[in-house]
Amino acid sequence: MYRNMSASADINSFEEECMKNVAILGSTGSIGTQTLEIIRCQEDLNLVAVSAGSNISLLEAQIREFHPVVAAVWSEEHAAELRTSVADVVPSCRIVSGMEGMLEVATIAQSDILITAVVGMIGIKPTIAAIEAGKDIGLANKETLVTAGHIIMSLAREKGVSILPVDSEHSAIFQCRNGESGNRIQKLLLTASGGPFRGKSRKDLEMVTLEMALHHPNWSMGKKITIDSATMVNKGLEVIEAKWLFDVKPSQIEVVVQPQSIVHSMVEFEDGAVMAQLGTPDMKLPIQYALYYPKRVYLSGKRLDFSELTEITFQKPDLDTFSGLQYAYEAIETGGSMPTVLNAANELAVARFLNRRISFLEIYEMIRMCMDEHKVIPNPSVDEILATEHWVYETIEGRWKS
Ligand code: NDP
Ligand code: MG
Repeated sequence: MYRNMSASADINSFEEECMKNVAILGSTGSIGTQTLEIIRCQEDLNLVAVSAGSNISLLEAQIREFHPVVAAVWSEEHAAELRTSVADVVPSCRIVSGMEGMLEVATIAQSDILITAVVGMIGIKPTIAAIEAGKDIGLANKETLVTAGHIIMSLAREKGVSILPVDSEHSAIFQCRNGESGNRIQKLLLTASGGPFRGKSRKDLEMVTLEMALHHPNWSMGKKITIDSATMVNKGLEVIEAKWLFDVKPSQIEVVVQPQSIVHSMVEFEDGAVMAQLGTPDMKLPIQYALYYPKRVYLSGKRLDFSELTEITFQKPDLDTFSGLQYAYEAIETGGSMPTVLNAANELAVARFLNRRISFLEIYEMIRMCMDEHKVIPNPSVDEILATEHWVYETIEGRWKS
């Protein structure tokens, strides 16, 4: 009897040791729900905390299914509603709100890793807080790295925390670099689908409607990144993201259009060898890779069938038509607060485009105007980054009456 109890105690502690506790910022979004699909299938992943913006019906369903310790929602009204609605089944779940709530999710003592699947610069403070608390980060929220990469990467080094890319291109590069430590990278080849308007001229883009821009040929994603893919600003943000993640110069990052979205990115080493990671377009692979790194575990889903694959093609990006990509190279070369200007102007412009207040091409115009007028702050602090965001919003509000 005693022996049995001791054996079961051993098994329990072994299971606890093998269990990875996961917190998610943005659990109701595209990346957030796909992360939960993985957790649902894997017995050694355990969800301990979630945060959402305003989709409280989905958040409620997540709380009922996964019984997290903490759940955050943006407004206190929604939090109060949720407290009442989940009290019967999950009374142990603390429902919190606002930035304080996001910070609590990001730093919860029980978690091993935080998946940052929130959209936009709102992720900066919670990501930094999580790193301070020693949490590994599965980073999807690229806007945070674009604006505060200099702070985040050095803090992560200081705290011994891993920043594991979730973005498919960066995960591909990360996978290609495995086992290559000490070998010098010549360049990163960041692939891009080219979005729904690949091959179109600037004149064609004048006619673009919201519905056309929301129709991505290969990927199903949240609305903001879908528009970013259509403008190719997404690829620009990813160039900046790659610079911070892999510590390379912008001139070492080449964007290559790969319309079938099968080659997720490549690394060229100094001997000329090029390593690539291929797969079907499915975000669950990079999410799961970040959750289990360095281990690979079974993931169900469609496999590449090379007997059916008719072509894998490559093209040069059209920087004149998709000027947002060019602006991103310019922003990262300038450095300091300029990437924040690019990102914040884009966030506001995309929100306005989604509300049908501006045209597709005005997204580029807003970014250009803010970049032209900005006085760069070198090495900005978090407060200066947020003040720059505020300046961008005021500048656009003052000039764009739409
Ligand atoms: P979604 O729009 O689908 O989801 C965003 C999530 O953030 C939702 O849970 C939303 O909550 C929450 N949220 C939005 N605003 C706030 C706010 N003010 N406060 C708190 N929470 C908020 O986005 P995606 O999942 O598509 O993208 C998330 C991040 O991952 C982005 O940075 C994107 O660039 C990146 N990424 C996404 C990919 C994809 O395939 N989707 C691929 C690679 C990177 P709610 O819905 O409840 O309001
Ligand atoms: Mg990507």
